[in-house]
Amino acid sequence: MKKKSSVVGSTIIFIIVVIAALSLFKTNQTSKTINFNEFQNDWTNKTIKSFTVEEDKMLVSGTLKNGTTYETVVPSARLFQFIKDHPKSADVQEIYLKPATLPIWLQYLPTVLMILMFVWFFSSMIKQSNGAGGGAAMKFGKSKAKLVDPNNKKKVSFDDVAGADEEKAELAEIVDFLKQPKQYIDMGARIPKGVLLVGPPGTGKTLLARAISGEAGVPFFSISGSDFVEMYVGVGASRVRDLFEQAKKNSPCIVFIDEIDAVGRQRGAGIGGGNDEREQTLNQLLVEMDGFGENEGIIMIAATNRADVLDPALLRPGRFDRQILVGVPDTKGREAILAVHSKNKHLEPEIKLSVLAKRTPGFTGADLENLMNESALLAVRRAKKLIGMDELEEAVTRIVAGPEKKSRIVSEEDRRLTAYHEAGHAIVMKLLPRLDPVHQISIVPRGMAGGYTMHLPDVESSYMSRSRLEDEIAGLLGGRVAEKLVIGDISTGASNDIERATSIARKMVMSYGMSDTLGPITFESGSDDVFVGRDMGKSKSYSEEVANKIDEEIKKVIDEAYNKALTLLTDNRSKLNAVAEELLVKEKLEAADFQEIFARS
Ligand code: ADP
Ligand code: MG
Ligand code: ZN
Repeated sequence: MKKKSSVVGSTIIFIIVVIAALSLFKTNQTSKTINFNEFQNDWTNKTIKSFTVEEDKMLVSGTLKNGTTYETVVPSARLFQFIKDHPKSADVQEIYLKPATLPIWLQYLPTVLMILMFVWFFSSMIKQSNGAGGGAAMKFGKSKAKLVDPNNKKKVSFDDVAGADEEKAELAEIVDFLKQPKQYIDMGARIPKGVLLVGPPGTGKTLLARAISGEAGVPFFSISGSDFVEMYVGVGASRVRDLFEQAKKNSPCIVFIDEIDAVGRQRGAGIGGGNDEREQTLNQLLVEMDGFGENEGIIMIAATNRADVLDPALLRPGRFDRQILVGVPDTKGREAILAVHSKNKHLEPEIKLSVLAKRTPGFTGADLENLMNESALLAVRRAKKLIGMDELEEAVTRIVAGPEKKSRIVSEEDRRLTAYHEAGHAIVMKLLPRLDPVHQISIVPRGMAGGYTMHLPDVESSYMSRSRLEDEIAGLLGGRVAEKLVIGDISTGASNDIERATSIARKMVMSYGMSDTLGPITFESGSDDVFVGRDMGKSKSYSEEVANKIDEEIKKVIDEAYNKALTLLTDNRSKLNAVAEELLVKEKLEAADFQEIFARS
């Protein structure tokens, strides 16, 4: 704040100088001062032509008959009164009475105010143009880090984070270190400076960080990566500086940077390349992280769902060297999360969360929370006292496929097409035992889709074999094949299936090294998404010739799967017809109904 007081000081000095100059100016302008005796002489000699009396100052001024001007202060009020009242006695021709003037400070007040306004105006101009570098713009450079919940009002604890046992165990060590650092330091152990939580959106990274703060009982600074990024150059870097200053003052403490990919993206990437604002911010972050020593009591925790785009410098030892993967929960994890989020909900007593957990593979914590909420909303809408399995099932399907659109008008022709399409999927999936069993088939439009075939895994596996992937593609193409086979025409309804099938085939060839001709070579960098900037500038790492081969291989995979589906459906035409016709009647088939029709026909 030193800068600020000096601005005020110089402003005051400036004003004083101006006032002094103004008063000097004023006295210069006034006439020759004479003493009262001289004035008395002029009075008796009748040489005074005019005078002006200023009552409050007992001042008399004016011109003599010879043209010179004069001014004098009358020493007594009685004399002053006499002069005022008897101008005739001195043959004075003109008399002016000056009303009592304002006190001097009031006279100058408008001027002073004007000057102050100018000073304020200019200083605010300077503030703006200075950006973050200047002292006047202190606020810009302040980090937006918030000390989270200092009074522990909305405390989140590890108990609120369900199903993430390994993650919690890993973080518990850090909490313990913050609570009692001595035993770690005595043992010569080094606690990681930075912990990076990596995982898909909605898996509870932010929640986990809040739980650490609740558990640790130390100050917890939370800031989002995007808070560092401003339109003014240099702001990000100075915010980082300020953040670490605050952290050092409050050590031991935790600094949490959410969505760190907003600042931590690889340097030299992005359109425009080079030395941009984000890069300076990242550099500052790296410098500051090196600046505090081991076991100093500041622990950085960052969260991201794009660890692949982070700058390698952030991840090297001494910085965010410990990475904790916060994954999509497994069945047991989902059951635990459902338990947490059903605590304040009224469920029918016979509902088993384990069944629901089985029904929701791939759901993240956020999805499950949403699921419980949707079912509660549905129960209210249906005027029920308790949430039943119906509502839960409907909520699951809503989340997967969007709400049912019963009112959408579908022509009979379209319904028939959809029925055969979905039946095609279901039959192919059923006939390929490696695929997950069919759970539900529907031709009621939902969201963007005209219908859907849902299949659910018996056991979740994290690896996919080549034959399983090939079957998966055949299952996806089953819809299109059935259309072609039965209706004789093909529709746009299969576009999403084809997109997914192609993407699996492409990955098999390019990433997983599963093609016979090309062998186990990867033709892709690690990330799935095209990261604009990094990939755009890069040329392909393989020749045109190989590119042709890749395309050929992808086509081969798709063709084989298509033919497999075609053979299966041709051979089982009666089953296909039976399922499709039943769908046209019932609109929706559960697993058991489907089994029954499949076995019968
Ligand atoms: P992320 O930061 O990983 O994107 P969040 O931490 O913001 O995800 O999670 C969003 C919401 O999902 C949380 O507020 C919480 O309600 C729920 N959630 C996620 N994971 C869990 C979990 N393991 N246990 C309980 N609730 C969870
Ligand atoms: Mg988050
Ligand atoms: Zn389909």
